[in-house]
Amino acid sequence: MSRTVILGAGFAGQYAALVLQHALKGKGDHKITVVNPFPKFTYIPSLIWVATDQLPVDKTQIDLAPVYRRLGIDFIQGTATEIHPDDDFVMVRTTEGPDERVDYDYLINATGPQLNFDATPGLGPDKGYTHSICSPPHAEATAQRYRELVERLETGDRARIVVGTGHGDCTCQGAGFEYISLLHNDLVDRGLRDQVELRWVSNEPCPGDFGIDGFEVRRGSMMFTSEDMARAVFRDYDIAWDTRTAVHAVEPDRMHIENAEGEYRELPFDFAMLIPPFKGKPIRYVGRDGRDLGGELTNKAGFLKVDAGYGKCYEEITADDWPRTYQNQTYPNLFAAGIAFAPPGCMSKPCASPNGTSISPSIPRTGYTSELTGKAAALNVAELIQGREPCHSASLAETAGMCIASMKNSWTRGTAAVIGIHPIVRNNGLYPGHGRNLDNSAVEMGLAGAWLKKGLHYAFLYKLGAKPLWRHIP
Ligand SMILES: Cc1cc2nc3c(=O)[nH]c(=O)nc-3n(C[C@H](O)[C@H](O)[C@H](O)COP(=O)(O)OP(=O)(O)OC[C@H]3O[C@@H](n4cnc5c(N)ncnc54)[C@H](O)[C@@H]3O)c2cc1C
Repeated sequence: MSRTVILGAGFAGQYAALVLQHALKGKGDHKITVVNPFPKFTYIPSLIWVATDQLPVDKTQIDLAPVYRRLGIDFIQGTATEIHPDDDFVMVRTTEGPDERVDYDYLINATGPQLNFDATPGLGPDKGYTHSICSPPHAEATAQRYRELVERLETGDRARIVVGTGHGDCTCQGAGFEYISLLHNDLVDRGLRDQVELRWVSNEPCPGDFGIDGFEVRRGSMMFTSEDMARAVFRDYDIAWDTRTAVHAVEPDRMHIENAEGEYRELPFDFAMLIPPFKGKPIRYVGRDGRDLGGELTNKAGFLKVDAGYGKCYEEITADDWPRTYQNQTYPNLFAAGIAFAPPGCMSKPCASPNGTSISPSIPRTGYTSELTGKAAALNVAELIQGREPCHSASLAETAGMCIASMKNSWTRGTAAVIGIHPIVRNNGLYPGHGRNLDNSAVEMGLAGAWLKKGLHYAFLYKLGAKPLWRHIP
């Protein structure tokens, strides 16, 4: 019998649990335990609709307990606080009772990001003055503030809205891009758009970089880039923008920003949604002697190191440095997937202002990518359980990435940008020139995309709820 513990029931952890349960079916008595602080899975990509007051939050969630009961997976509602890799156990804080020790033979850390609002004074909804779309309670609170703003606009007020990233090292610009596009279209529909100045503030080198070094697709004999796309959208939607910009501090009605030239400015706002930087969840890695193993096992941001080529600068990192198996190299029974694994570096070129401020987008990991890494980790655990070596690979320098950016949420008048790139990380060895296979890269914008975006919402909730034939949904 083997015991696998999966920390986190997001895209990576939930998919890993389903894939592992399926891989071990009929192969003996194996125990899988999922630890997650909340009893529900949340389809985070749809929080952009929650935060624009277009979808109730419960429509983005499914209950985990019935899924696990059906599949024979154990569930602990709690938060992992310590991992003891020398002694193979995790300490879990539950809402009731004392901390629980959970022993494992294999562990997959899929705990996602810690929203690091503290990195920028005044950032975030709890201790600061900006809103967030990154968690269900944040998205609901943002919807409430947006409703209040709309009421003010309806009395004839004017407003300045700023959307983007709240620190020089942020990621997840795509979600911000969706949010500002949705706000624009919602305000147009309400007849209020003329009363609002919309501004995009981001650490990306240029609009449309999205922290993935942008992308390009062929249009007949022409090349079309993500920068062309984002600039066209911003011009069409009358959105002003500041890119290569770090937010230093936020006050109740203004934010202090610095650009790559080292120029400081103040940006006034009435409503701001800024994505925070991400770091690893505050889980301690404790050695047998009580030693803190964090410095050895995690990168500076606190994400767990796996089989990547670490310690190289941006220019030195090659496709081979991107992890394949997601197995930690010190403790072979330890894996990390989704946002929880430490990447070898950035995809977009890092930059520092003359004042030394880092303005360098971190690498984003989408839901689909998180699932792929969770699947690879789960299948590799299954190999180890059966006495074989990990052989399942999900290198970001080899796998395709897919994302649909919702810009207007409507069955009849909606629009979304459907983006497919291959591979996610530029691989100049395989694809000299652009580092990507342009025959497999595409972007389309329109109503069909809006339908697809809605379709994905239902498809993912169906698949991650392990409904019949879930395995056949990619
Ligand atoms: C607003 C927004 C919009 C997005 N839109 C898209 C999109 O359109 N398409 C797309 O592909 N991606 C999108 N993404 C990115 C996508 O949501 C992430 O890639 C994905 O959620 C990462 O999955 P994960 O499993 O690594 O982390 P998460 O989804 O964050 O899951 C981590 C899980 O671990 C749990 N956890 C945390 N700490 C602990 C602990 N100590 N112990 C146990 N469990 C713990 C959490 O509660 C959570 O359930 C969006 C992200 C945001 C924020």
